[in-house]
Amino acid sequence: MKKIDRETVQRILDVADIVDVVSDFVSLKRRGASYLGLCPFHNERTPSFSVSKSKNICKCFSCGKGGSPVNFIMEHEQMTYQEALRYLAAKYNIEIKEHEMTDEERERETERASLLAINEFALRHFETNLADTDDGRNIGLTYLQQRGVSEAMVKRFHLGYAAERPTDLYEAAIHKGYNEKYLIDTGLCIRTDTGRIYDRFKGRVIFPVFSVSGKVIAFGGRTLKKDVAKYVNSPESVIYTKSNELYGLYQAKQSIVKHNKCILVEGYLDVISMHQSGIENVVASSGTSLTDGQIRLIHRFTDNVTVIYDGDAAGIKASLRGIDMLLREGLNIKVLLLPEGDDPDSFAQSHTSTEVGDYISANEVDFIQFKTGILLQGLENDPIARSRAIGDIVQSISVIPDPVTANVYIKECSRRLDIDERIVALEVEKRRKAQAEKDALSVRQDRARKSIGEPTEENETPVSDSVSAGVGPSFATHTVSSDVPDGNSEEARFRRFMYQYEYTLVKYMLRYGLLSLAEMF
Ligand code: ATP
Ligand code: MN
Repeated sequence: MKKIDRETVQRILDVADIVDVVSDFVSLKRRGASYLGLCPFHNERTPSFSVSKSKNICKCFSCGKGGSPVNFIMEHEQMTYQEALRYLAAKYNIEIKEHEMTDEERERETERASLLAINEFALRHFETNLADTDDGRNIGLTYLQQRGVSEAMVKRFHLGYAAERPTDLYEAAIHKGYNEKYLIDTGLCIRTDTGRIYDRFKGRVIFPVFSVSGKVIAFGGRTLKKDVAKYVNSPESVIYTKSNELYGLYQAKQSIVKHNKCILVEGYLDVISMHQSGIENVVASSGTSLTDGQIRLIHRFTDNVTVIYDGDAAGIKASLRGIDMLLREGLNIKVLLLPEGDDPDSFAQSHTSTEVGDYISANEVDFIQFKTGILLQGLENDPIARSRAIGDIVQSISVIPDPVTANVYIKECSRRLDIDERIVALEVEKRRKAQAEKDALSVRQDRARKSIGEPTEENETPVSDSVSAGVGPSFATHTVSSDVPDGNSEEARFRRFMYQYEYTLVKYMLRYGLLSLAEMF
């Protein structure tokens, strides 16, 4: 039997939204963090069918039926697993790739499972170290206590400690029968050029990174010493693509849905301290700028994002760019500036949870307003810099997909900048058009790129062959006979000779003219 490709399955599972899927059959009403409706699997008058957006599952509290989007469709439509996947693929316009599983794929599947299993083992090992060994308690736990991290947060985020001895984890894992290869592949252990193996995280406090579904896919380890890299992180692997994960999302997702808002910070400890102060809809991009994958991940749970900055102006300007990506994805962005010298961690630690909550609601400002303020600061008397800054702001507005929202910003922006609203609107429109043209061009370029090396409908032979052979098959099959000079005069022979080159050149221009072959400038 043909099997739906694993990547396709993953895409279907990623995209299928339980509220959306169930809503095709059941009318749902919002109730706090979840949705409620009449159970489609048995007769009832009062609704007991509950749908959780954050967990992406549904369940009837009366008859017990429900599950993931796939389970729901299987049950409701009486379909097999594969049929349900196909149903969802059709609903979400996902192209299905299918095939027989190759040995290699089967192996990759086992490899994933093995990597996850060894991470799970390491997680428990690190947690036990922290709680039950002298070094763990004296060094690791003491450090966390000094940082103000509560016992509840240690548990919630499964913090741990990697012993100083370089082969502590290695030996424990091998002793339990785990394969050395997977210790290396997850990056838990490192093999030196001389073949010696040691633990990557030795002597560090461990922050496990969970996937959105709660699997341990990576670790971050913080040193307690001076003058070494502050954090060491797991390398990318079959189970870990850094740009598709957000630290804390697994612990935060329910609260994100409940508050319909996601707060974005930078560091592991920022997330933890915020949670500790009772604000749980917080995730971290872990020190790098946001990626498309991370943004899509947030968008699965909410449309509203508040980015918290600590008050360092250079850092803020650098990160403004990342925010345009959020706007482009259709998210509503607010920005919160912390008092000078504070980061989310220190701020949450030094204020009560009510104070933190109040500070956020009183001080978060709309992104465009924020950007306007930052960029125009001190430029009152510099018209050129001012006009550049205005262009930058208009650019941000032009990427917002929803015209109504964009319009609100156009009004707001023209008021703050004291520029005629129509001028701002025109400028936004101009940039929108330019971007649309750019997008269209890149689609055409992609198409051209794809056509390279692929036989065309006419099944042409590559031109290089035909040119070097002197007579192109394309010359023979593609010429309109009246165009080709006949006769045996010198001129006719010369024109026939040139024809194949001209023909080839024209063909290349038509087919690949949109691609740049070399960077010339
Ligand atoms: P701390 O408060 O103990 O310094 P933090 O979690 O607040 O820790 P930041 O200095 O704010 O850390 O850095 C933000 C994030 O960037 C970290 O959580 C970590 O994911 C990443 N990071 C920081 N320093 C490094 C480093 N040297 N190597 C790799 N990643 C790092
Ligand atoms: Mn910090």
